[in-house]
Amino acid sequence: MTYYIIVIGCQMNVADSERLAAYLESNGYTLALDENKADVVIITTCGVKQSAEDRAYGIVNQLKKKNKKATIVITGCLSERPDVKRRLKGQVDIWLPTIQMETLLEQIKKSRPSDAKIDPRNYLKIAPKYQSTFTAYVPIGNGCNNFCSYCAVPYARGREVYRPAGEIVKEVKDLLGRGFKEIVLLAQNVNSYKSGTVDFPKLLEKVNALPGNFWLRLFSSHPKDMSGALIKTMAKCDKLCEHVHLAVQSGDDKILQAMNRKYTSAHFQDLIVKIRKAMAKRSVPVAITTDVIVGFPGEGKKEFKNTLKLFKDVKFDLAYVSKYSPRFGTVASKMKDDVPLVEKKLREQELGALLKKTALANNKSYLHKTVDVLLEGRNRHGQLYGKTRTYKFVTLEDSKKIGDDLIGQIVKIKINQVREFALEGKLV
Ligand code: SF4
Repeated sequence: MTYYIIVIGCQMNVADSERLAAYLESNGYTLALDENKADVVIITTCGVKQSAEDRAYGIVNQLKKKNKKATIVITGCLSERPDVKRRLKGQVDIWLPTIQMETLLEQIKKSRPSDAKIDPRNYLKIAPKYQSTFTAYVPIGNGCNNFCSYCAVPYARGREVYRPAGEIVKEVKDLLGRGFKEIVLLAQNVNSYKSGTVDFPKLLEKVNALPGNFWLRLFSSHPKDMSGALIKTMAKCDKLCEHVHLAVQSGDDKILQAMNRKYTSAHFQDLIVKIRKAMAKRSVPVAITTDVIVGFPGEGKKEFKNTLKLFKDVKFDLAYVSKYSPRFGTVASKMKDDVPLVEKKLREQELGALLKKTALANNKSYLHKTVDVLLEGRNRHGQLYGKTRTYKFVTLEDSKKIGDDLIGQIVKIKINQVREFALEGKLV
């Protein structure tokens, strides 16, 4: 039996798919060359944006034409949405909520009676088949209790569940033993991790204390749970990269309240000041990245100006800007979507233009400095590229003739060119 997995969306979906691949392979499945040749095609879906949802519909339609014998499985954010189930009625064979991943073989057996063995296990315990040999996504938990009014994740993934600290530390230790250089601890809200007496700062200390030269990243953190104790611990953990991703979503207090984010714009800015101060002793300034939604219901010109002001004040290194679109079943979907699309696009462009300025100004501090870069691959011109601890994209000049054995290694690069979202330099 063969399988193929199509991943749409965030790193959580990548991590879930790595576990699914290992689960299937440990039960005798092999990876098909492409989705049109596989017996089982799994689509790990995302419901954060309408465009991500539409991609899933398009893939299912294509599969129905090009691979009629395939068992089609939908997992991820759309797997429990009644409206999606109605729309794809008769086209999808198995709807697989993430937390029921270990029932997949049982369900395949029902839909293809002669083909599968049953081996039910808790999906987070499944040893994944990592896509990379140097970066590993390690889920520390799943689900979300926050119910931001625009977000479908708590409905799709359920309430928060966390893995025991010992299990996470053992997985990271094993990865480091196998030569992995970058460990990304993943959850919808890593800061609210709790297992027995271990909270997130304690977990971070335990992982940071593991021997080896490795980079540690977190994804993602909620501003309301970014405590003073956590900021202190982050500053002390030397393996933790100088990059903090903290989703602000809006710079206006009225909109933040309507989004049910449970912090104010002033509190967010105060956190950034504290983080920058706590990590000021590092050799490079901490990079701050964020997510923001434009055109949320009720966001008039005045409210958007507050977001612009926050962007000017914080000077982000990068921001993922989304135009608001209502997600099925959420509280915000019952509000009037009152900002016209054309206005949402204008606001997206305005924030993008401002971001380019702050990102370029921040990147100028890299000029003529030597930084550590984890090389990840080659671009279409054959040059090696990678990223810094601060999540800056770096191209290595004149690297066409340098061997691929440097891919997956941390090297020193002297930066001699900076742009808004990329740096360039030479090997030291
Ligand atoms: Fe969604 Fe808010 Fe939970 Fe993030 S914290 S997953 S935005 S509900």
